[in-house]
Amino acid sequence: MTDRVLVFVDALPYQERERLAREVPALTWARAIEPGFGYSLNVKSELFAGLAPDQAGFLNEWTYRPGRGITKVGYPRWFDRLVSATWLGSRVVRRVLAKLYGESLRNIPLPLLTDLDRDGVNAYERGFPHESVFTEFEVERFLYSEFGSDGAAFEALLRRLDTDERPVKAFLATAELDHVLHVHAVNSPEYEAELKVVIGRMNELLSALQRRGEGARVCLVSDHGMASVHSEVTFELDTALPGAGKSYGLFVDATMARVWSRDEAVLERARSFAGDIPGHYLDAEERRAWGISSPEFGDLVFLLDEGYLFVPSFMGDAGVKAMHGYDPRLDSQKGLLAANVPVVDEGEVVPARAAYQGFRNFFS
Ligand SMILES: [Zn+2]
Repeated sequence: MTDRVLVFVDALPYQERERLAREVPALTWARAIEPGFGYSLNVKSELFAGLAPDQAGFLNEWTYRPGRGITKVGYPRWFDRLVSATWLGSRVVRRVLAKLYGESLRNIPLPLLTDLDRDGVNAYERGFPHESVFTEFEVERFLYSEFGSDGAAFEALLRRLDTDERPVKAFLATAELDHVLHVHAVNSPEYEAELKVVIGRMNELLSALQRRGEGARVCLVSDHGMASVHSEVTFELDTALPGAGKSYGLFVDATMARVWSRDEAVLERARSFAGDIPGHYLDAEERRAWGISSPEFGDLVFLLDEGYLFVPSFMGDAGVKAMHGYDPRLDSQKGLLAANVPVVDEGEVVPARAAYQGFRNFFS
């Protein structure tokens, strides 16, 4: 067996295809990745386990489970208002809650927490509950999350290659490009600097493999691209429609909002509430196509148009300069798949779930 190394670069946009072909000439083959619906957590389960949200059992990080949420005690609305109204209250109380529940809980209104449960595991983390390419082919994992940084995980992989002659099936997971893009925007100097780091590492990796012999397979994949955020909008259904946490559940993701209720009249009000917001509630056909039919993910799922962002959202009160998690068919949302051998037979655009079959062949 020859060496096989798969590198994951969170958020490397397809638009960098030509740049990569120029600066990492060994990667002679490239395609666009069409992400699935949702954020990285879901795209990773499509890429590395072939599972759409319906099969993985989660959409994004939170779901609505009435009475089975992360907190067992209910927080009254006045307490939430008091906490949110003061900077100190907000900081202290949320820090205490984070300690109690092991989660940052971010900006989720406290009365909703008895019904909202933390969900979902990264497909390359060891706690992922389904089979993945990593478990199926016993791939050695070098994860930024375990080594503390992209650089430390990369150095550990290089050490493995330089000190152990046995053929390797390895996976390197990095995440810093995604953070840089969110904070500093597409085409910023900070992004350019981080992209140079990514390109430098790919060339270093290829040289290290070259030193070990001929025939190594190397593949780079990202989960999605990025769109510049140009406008912030709100989704304050809980202000407009009383009963959040009682007659309905609500979660405002950065580019989506999800509403749960058994009361059709409540859902109807939620539909008309969103009438002027730039985006739409997904219809049954879209939900089927993206594998998010499960009512657990929301009786209503609202998706913003490209470039808009919910601020505040339950994922943070500060906006970001670039975002993903829009319609996966948009050009801006495409990730990149590049390799020194063909990885899939697919045409120019590879659905994330088809890339999974490619990775199975890559490692087998
Ligand atoms: Zn991201």
